[in-house]
Amino acid sequence: MKKKKCSTCKILKELKKFHKCKSSADGHQYQCIKCRKDYDGKHNSYVYNREKKNANARLQTKILKIIKRDYPEVYDKVIKRINELKAEATDGQD
Ligand SMILES: [Zn+2]
Repeated sequence: MKKKKCSTCKILKELKKFHKCKSSADGHQYQCIKCRKDYDGKHNSYVYNREKKNANARLQTKILKIIKRDYPEVYDKVIKRINELKAEATDGQD
């Protein structure tokens, strides 16, 4: 059985432990399936969280603009309340 060294974990593994990849010399990816999976998992959750955060920030900005325009008398109170909630949310973290 032909073996190949994974570029990430540096372990010599059987070729079947690597995903196939037509563009590489031996027809397999440089990372083993396990490392590839770890990488994708980390990468996807990072991108997902970042997108979610951005979407929330955009939504909040939109809502605040509407409140400022249509309900200027409560705008300051809303901002104050948001800051309080933010402070509560970060409490106990770290
Ligand atoms: Zn590996």
